[in-house]
Amino acid sequence: MAKSSLPDPIAAVEVYTVDLQQDQPYLGSLRTGEVINEHGYFVRRGNRTVYPSHNRSLVIRAITESGIEGWGETYGIIAPTATAAIINDLLAGFVIGQDPIRREAIHDQLYDLMRVRGYTGGFYLDALAAIDIALWDITGKRTGLSVAALLGGPYHASIPAYVSGLPKDTLAERCELAQQWQQRGFDDFKFAMPVADEGPVKELTALRKELGNEARIAIDLHWAYTAREALDLTQQLAGERPWFLEAPVPTEDIEGLAEVAVLSNQAIAGGEEWRTEFDARQRIDRRAIHIVQPEMGHTGITQFMRIGRFAQAHHLPIIPHATIGAGIFLAASLQASAALRGVVSHEFQHSVFEPFRHFTSNVLSCEDGSYILPQTPGIGVEPSDAMRAAMKRIT
Ligand code: MG
Repeated sequence: MAKSSLPDPIAAVEVYTVDLQQDQPYLGSLRTGEVINEHGYFVRRGNRTVYPSHNRSLVIRAITESGIEGWGETYGIIAPTATAAIINDLLAGFVIGQDPIRREAIHDQLYDLMRVRGYTGGFYLDALAAIDIALWDITGKRTGLSVAALLGGPYHASIPAYVSGLPKDTLAERCELAQQWQQRGFDDFKFAMPVADEGPVKELTALRKELGNEARIAIDLHWAYTAREALDLTQQLAGERPWFLEAPVPTEDIEGLAEVAVLSNQAIAGGEEWRTEFDARQRIDRRAIHIVQPEMGHTGITQFMRIGRFAQAHHLPIIPHATIGAGIFLAASLQASAALRGVVSHEFQHSVFEPFRHFTSNVLSCEDGSYILPQTPGIGVEPSDAMRAAMKRIT
């Protein structure tokens, strides 16, 4: 491993999709009226959001002239070739030849390229997130430090995890699944409103009964309510003491979010769809959010840290989001989370994590209510042979 201060520029960037085939789609089986179209997509009626029938992710490998490899990952579930084209056609050409030690400067340079055209979010920032993670990974390997150490941490060697999603067909089965996780040492949970078939009030009431008074139970409302509807709902839920309510109103309605945060008497969480510190600032400046949930697959390490530090400066707890991925951006999220004092918990997407935990060498661990932070240099994981077999190069 090279540990020199001489420049070691990026020589190549490669893009891959990773097949994450599972028996049933994310959040569980299709509900009445949900139909897979000819491109393999369907829309959840509860949140009007498109999902693939077949999960996948987008992984990149950046290689320096001396041969150090850095791995990055971003969302690949919807139209992954769009993000791949942004990397292959545009970003790679501006990264090759640059010294990855300048990772934040490179991030800002790439962000600036497309501002004038309005690409301050979406697929463009997803592509940038994948590159950013890979540059941090290389910098860690080059210096012999974990990303958490590069960022000035770690504050924590393990990170509390909450069980997210209960992908079963009936409420009784969902309660049983939650109970099984409780027996494995987890006492914090979140369920998703679009697949709470009898409504969030009945779902929370049943889970509270099953899990007891000490359990913390959050609800992901998936941006599905008006502010007025969300306020009515929070009153109905209050007796069962939800832990927090996530994404109550559409992301465009920042004033509505502020109204719910101020008037509802409940902790309001959000952030999974944000890409940058500017998205965070618009909500936090208005006191529209109580818990900040950055998603590494959308933010990369640079923006994740900026969002996290902005949250800390406003005395807001951070509970990072974790989505469908192959383990690369999850490892990056754990590294960055360990370097933020304000992180109090982290999403544990067990229905994706458990079937694919063998996709990373130096297997990620989430046991007994906590993630264990990988200690090796960089983000701390590499694709395993199993992941490599599921990877397909996009050129
Ligand atoms: Mg969510």
